[in-house]
Amino acid sequence: MVVKARQRSGKGPGPLRLPLTLADREWTERLPIYAWVIEHPEGVIVVDTGETARVSEPGYFPRWHPYYRLGVKEWVEPEQEIGPQLRAVGIEPDAVRWVVMTHLHTDHAGGLGHFAKSEILVTRREFANARGMLGKLRGFLPHRWPEWFLPTLIDLESQQHGPFPQSLRLTDAGDVIIVGTTGHTPGHVSVVLEEDDRSILFAGDTSYTEQLMIEGETDGVSPDLGAARMSLRWIQDFASQRPVVYLPSHDPGSAQRLHERRAVTMST
Ligand SMILES: [Zn+2]
Repeated sequence: MVVKARQRSGKGPGPLRLPLTLADREWTERLPIYAWVIEHPEGVIVVDTGETARVSEPGYFPRWHPYYRLGVKEWVEPEQEIGPQLRAVGIEPDAVRWVVMTHLHTDHAGGLGHFAKSEILVTRREFANARGMLGKLRGFLPHRWPEWFLPTLIDLESQQHGPFPQSLRLTDAGDVIIVGTTGHTPGHVSVVLEEDDRSILFAGDTSYTEQLMIEGETDGVSPDLGAARMSLRWIQDFASQRPVVYLPSHDPGSAQRLHERRAVTMST
């Protein structure tokens, strides 16, 4: 996908950031749309579902919506969808136990159709914000969700995990934790996998690159700038306290950092 450069790194005061993003003439380079899979003893866990190849059908995106008219372009081949991608690494989508959605934007929810047999977890807040006509106005595509889509609505608990004030343990082992990272959307979450002495942070759209997180630079589309900044601060603190492999969905460097288990270096 490509978005406007100012979506990746927002400019201007709060209410002007979205219009300034849409008016931006500069596009980013082509960005990946990552989704993640954890082969856990308690069951296979998928974080986000990527995008659907249907984006190339004329009229798939609502043309009346300024973001889809001006702000984004996507190219997805059928074999790039998450179903075929999982099969390519020997995992049947039907065998996935949990799908955790960081948020419901189309480039994270477009692959939901591959997971009719899985339990899909969405925060109550995210679901309420994304559904219906208001959801459409906010840029979600609820009319494209599968007919059968009835996610398990979760509420985070006031249970601290590192610097994150709200969390929810997913596995009995306690090694996969959903943490609240609101800002990019009101119900946005990230997923932490505690692995030996390090944490892998599947971060959704908390920032578009690791460097922008380190710099505390929020994007140009977050409806709540203060919340987005706060979430970045929690992530910075987390990465200062322990080795954290930070994996935003659209950072071209995420896959390599995961492969190498390369932790964030917070310069002090
Ligand atoms: Zn998003």
